[in-house]
Amino acid sequence: MTNTENSPFYDYLVKLHQKYSSLNNGKIPNYIPELTEAKAEWFGISVITTDGQIFEVGNCDQLFTIQSISKAFVFGLALEDHGREYVNSKVSVEPTGEAFNSITLDEKTNRPYNPMVNAGAIATADLIKGDTATERLKRILAMFKRYTGKEHEIDVPVFLSEKATGNKNRAMSYLMLNFNMVSDRIEETLDLYFQQCSIRVNARDIAMLSATLANGGVNPITQERAIDEHYVQDVISVMLTCGMYDASGEWTYRVGIPAKSGVGGGISAVVPKILGIGTFSPLLDAKGNSIRGIKVCEDLSRDFGLHLFNMGKPKHNLQEWIGEGKIEND
Ligand code: GLN
Repeated sequence: MTNTENSPFYDYLVKLHQKYSSLNNGKIPNYIPELTEAKAEWFGISVITTDGQIFEVGNCDQLFTIQSISKAFVFGLALEDHGREYVNSKVSVEPTGEAFNSITLDEKTNRPYNPMVNAGAIATADLIKGDTATERLKRILAMFKRYTGKEHEIDVPVFLSEKATGNKNRAMSYLMLNFNMVSDRIEETLDLYFQQCSIRVNARDIAMLSATLANGGVNPITQERAIDEHYVQDVISVMLTCGMYDASGEWTYRVGIPAKSGVGGGISAVVPKILGIGTFSPLLDAKGNSIRGIKVCEDLSRDFGLHLFNMGKPKHNLQEWIGEGKIEND
C-alpha cells in the first residue's frame, strides 16, 4: 500500500470528515434492539481505488453489522448458484418506492420486487446452495472473505436480537411460501438472512467490497476473484435502481453512483473501474439510510464528477490526485 496520507485526496477526505462530523441529525435505529449499542459519534470514510490504494479517515476500524449491504453480495452468489433466469423467476428487479421492510409482492407474478428490500433478500437467501444450514452460512462467509480478504464473524447478540423481533420478516416469508416463491425451510432461511445481516465489518471492509465490484469482481489487493465477472453488472445495476430503497430515485438523480445502504450505518458505493467507497455513521434518516454517509457521497460525486451521467468539468481532478492507475488504462 502506498502512503496515501501524503495525497491531496487524503486532505480532501479529512476536510470532508470534519465538515460532517458535527451533523447530528437522524437516529440510531431501535427496531432491532441490539443496534442501539452504536454511538452517534462513530464516523468513518474509506475509499479504495481499483489499483489498490486505501484512503481512510475517522473510525475505519470500528466494527458494525453489515445489515442490508449484504443483500447485494448474496444476490451475486445466488446468481452464481442458479443463473439469471431462475433467480429472476423468484425475485424481480423493479424498484418498489416503498420502505425496505414493506410486505408487498408483485401482484401479477407474486414475486418480491427486488433483492435489496427485505422480502426479496429473504427469497434470495433461500436460493443459496448448501446441504445444511451450516454449509449455506459458510458459503456466504467464504464469499465475503473473497471480497474483503479477511475472515468475518457474526455479531451473535445482533443476530439473536433480530431473530427474536423480526416477525415482520417472518410474516413476509410465509406470504412468499404461500406463493411458492420460497422453499418451506422458512426458519432456516430466516436464520441465514439474519446471520448475513449480522456479519461484522468496518468502513474499510465496505470500501473493499465496493472496490472489488468496481474492479470487475477481483479484490484490488489480494487479486482474488470474488464473483463471476458476468454477474458484476447485475449486482451493480440493482444497486443503482434499488440500493437505497425508496430513496433510490433521488439518490440516482443527486449522486448517480450505484450504492447500497444498511441500517447498521454503512453505505457501499461503487464507481465502476475507478474506486469503491465505504462510509459508516449510524445516524439514519427516516428511510433507513445513513445521513452523514449520504452527504459524503453527494460531495464526492459533485466535487469529482463521479455521477454516472456527469458531462461537466469537476471541481477537482481525481486522476491527478489518486494517480494514473487503472483510470488511464480504461
Ligand atoms: N436486517 C435488517 C432487517 O431485516 C436489514 C434492514 C436494513 O439494513 N435496511 O430489517
